[in-house]
Amino acid sequence: MDHEPITIDVEGRSVTASPGRSIIEAVWEAGHVHVQGVGCLGGVCGSCRAIIRRADSTEVKMVLACETLIEAGMQVTFVPFLERLSDHPYQIDSFKDTWQLVSQVNQTFPEAAHCRHCGGCDSACPKGIKVERGVNLAVEGQLGAAGDIFETCIMCNLCSHICPEFIDPNHLGLLVRRVVPSLVVRPFNLMQRLNQLERGELYFDYEAPEASTEERD
Ligand code: SF4
Ligand code: SF4
Repeated sequence: MDHEPITIDVEGRSVTASPGRSIIEAVWEAGHVHVQGVGCLGGVCGSCRAIIRRADSTEVKMVLACETLIEAGMQVTFVPFLERLSDHPYQIDSFKDTWQLVSQVNQTFPEAAHCRHCGGCDSACPKGIKVERGVNLAVEGQLGAAGDIFETCIMCNLCSHICPEFIDPNHLGLLVRRVVPSLVVRPFNLMQRLNQLERGELYFDYEAPEASTEERD
């Protein structure tokens, strides 16, 4: 492995750091103070949105700076916190009638039916989510499949900002992820376990071989 330091460009500043560093780690290693837009450092909170361009490419990409490793010649610009551009208020308790569920979701996000299939949301997503597909599935009424697509969404709002139809794709995804589990029958095993717990029938057998923390052969 090459251990030579790597130099990148961060918002016009030259930053040199060890290989294997994420963009944020590199900025810190180079001695720069950078706290705004830094959150979990684990690719979950979506705070450290950044636009990068690699040395050998003309393509610009949205990434999370905490999980993107530096490469020689990489150019980086951080993207500040993004407010939502549109609002789609709803009360989750109002979604009661499963026969009306699809139309109610579509009434809450009426712009979703006007998706232009431009793919802008897919390009903007730093988590590689097929956002357009998720929006289209929700409009078609395939709410479970749509919710699955948005499972790793970190609500960074980048797709919302790029969407020319103000669809608010991530919030549509959040709605279907909330509403579907709130209406489907709970898993039978879980209900049984909760019932056992209420009756005081669940206990932990500390003597069981599986309970031992010692290494097994
Ligand atoms: S908010 Fe949009 S761009 Fe950000 S992770 Fe979720 S789907 Fe991707
Ligand atoms: S950016 Fe908006 S209009 Fe374009 S594909 Fe995504 S959801 Fe559809």
